[in-house]
Amino acid sequence: MNFKIALIRGDGIGPEVVEQAVSVINAVGQRFGHSFSYQEVLLGGCAIDATGTSYPDGTAEVCKSCDAVLLGAVGGPKWGMNSNPEKRPETALFAIRKDLSLYANLRPATLRPAMIDACPLKRETVQRGIDLMMVRELTGGIYFGARDRYQTEDRGEVASDLLTYSELEIERIGRRAFELARLRRNKVTSVDKANVLESSRLWRCVMHRLKEEYPDVAYEDILVDNAAMQLVRDPGQFDVVVTENMFGDILSDEASMITGSIGLLPSASIGDTAPGLYEPIHGSAPDIAGQDKANPIATILSVAMMFRYSFQLPEQANAIEAAVDAVLNEGWRTADIATGGVAPVGTKEMGRLIRERLLAQ
Ligand code: NAD
Repeated sequence: MNFKIALIRGDGIGPEVVEQAVSVINAVGQRFGHSFSYQEVLLGGCAIDATGTSYPDGTAEVCKSCDAVLLGAVGGPKWGMNSNPEKRPETALFAIRKDLSLYANLRPATLRPAMIDACPLKRETVQRGIDLMMVRELTGGIYFGARDRYQTEDRGEVASDLLTYSELEIERIGRRAFELARLRRNKVTSVDKANVLESSRLWRCVMHRLKEEYPDVAYEDILVDNAAMQLVRDPGQFDVVVTENMFGDILSDEASMITGSIGLLPSASIGDTAPGLYEPIHGSAPDIAGQDKANPIATILSVAMMFRYSFQLPEQANAIEAAVDAVLNEGWRTADIATGGVAPVGTKEMGRLIRERLLAQ
């Protein structure tokens, strides 16, 4: 099969990690007999430098013509303080997610066996492992609601942010969660604050209607405050965790922390139609950019998600993940995850090792 991939290398360490991820994609092609063509797309700080805007015309169209989009990272101190939104790299990230209608953000939090010592939780807490998928609604809720700020005579300034969800928005993300659970361990935990918020009561009502359609999937509701506690008390209890935008923003970062390094964690943002957008959860790490120090594993594991969710090729996704685990099990580490006097390898060497294991399987 032939797949078309839009490449957004981005800023800082983005180009370095994307280079290694692309070489892994090509190794998959070599091993399994697929071919890939790439379309380079400018976005973020490098796009500001080249075109004057962080989200040049035509970017979304090129991405839409591809089967998937791979993004390194965007942003950096060079562009960070600009008050003009067009000159801010982050504006482009929000815009492309919206233009591609990517309403579901998938963030796996997996404690890889070789990384158990990097987990800040006690050994007995992670005895049964951590392997959960955080599914965050990405295009609705309080981050997109009406905002207001006004002066009052008696109470000083007042500010408000509106939290709105429709049945349609809840149902489509809920359905995603149930479908994902069927590919995993058949359990959905829905996080809300239904004891306080009306939007959460609608959320719960729609989720309960949906669960009747998926009798093979175990289902539970959990309040967001309890979810935050349970993630550090017993993360092994979770399989798919689905929640609204702001709760997901916070809980997915908490879930990331308990699995160790930021350099290991992938993500996918998907909608109902192609293409999905795949990117590491980390930023452009300007402090180590251009030094061959960045860990490429988060981007390489994002590529594994691309094979699983956009190309429907789970065997190839498993092969990439197995190659990463093999390299980590052998003790190879980049500087961000090297402990106990282990001599770290660079970005390129880590990529080469993973490719080598992938081709040797
Ligand atoms: P960051 O994730 O870039 O870096 C945080 C720390 O983690 C740094 O010390 C960095 O060196 C380290 N780190 C991150 N990724 C690493 C990797 N792959 N290997 C080794 N070490 C790694 O977060 P930040 O410093 O807050 O942000 C830097 C820039 O990135 C900012 O401009 C921010 O807006 C942007 N950013 C972009 C995205 C994105 O593109 N999706 C996400 C977050 C931040």
